[in-house]
Amino acid sequence: MDSQALRVYWRPGCSSCVKVKEFLSQLGVDYQSINVSATPEAMDELREMGVRTVPVVARGREYVFAQALEDVSRFLGKDVQMKRLPPEAYKVMRDEGTERAGTSPLDHEKRPGVFVCAGCGLPVFTSEMKFDSGTGWPSFFTSIPGAFEMKKDFYLIYPRTEYHCMRCGGHHGHLFDDGPAPTNQRWCNNGVSLRFIPK
Ligand SMILES: [Zn+2]
Repeated sequence: MDSQALRVYWRPGCSSCVKVKEFLSQLGVDYQSINVSATPEAMDELREMGVRTVPVVARGREYVFAQALEDVSRFLGKDVQMKRLPPEAYKVMRDEGTERAGTSPLDHEKRPGVFVCAGCGLPVFTSEMKFDSGTGWPSFFTSIPGAFEMKKDFYLIYPRTEYHCMRCGGHHGHLFDDGPAPTNQRWCNNGVSLRFIPK
């Protein structure tokens, strides 16, 4: 057993196994792929760790049941997922920086399509949710349900609600309550944290 390599234990015909492997490939993470049906000694390894079911993602003797991609994200840690990002995106998503206003071409993106997280590909906004806030950052009046988790920050004197990708934990932006009707929300998002997929 290579102690540093990431290992994925899976078996054929298991749909959550397929999802986990796709997720890791999308993140650009190298891993050792272990088909437990074809490798009897892999089952012994798993039993030794006290595991009875796949998919399992493991490194050394640490492992996580990998049915939920959120659990896999947590296991990998932010650095693993973010390291393939361009430096500007890394700075925003990992170190919670803010890009300079007016620098993102996505601020002027008006085609129909979906905005996905630059860190992990999770769909977070649709083009119907976008509006022109005039701030110089891509802005949305709502987000795809379940895409983000919220956190209060106190960098300014009053607390702002900061939001992160639910799947990879990458920082995206801040939520304000001065947006347009009907939600009055303004999701002020860093363009580098997004990737646009036209319809
Ligand atoms: Zn993400």
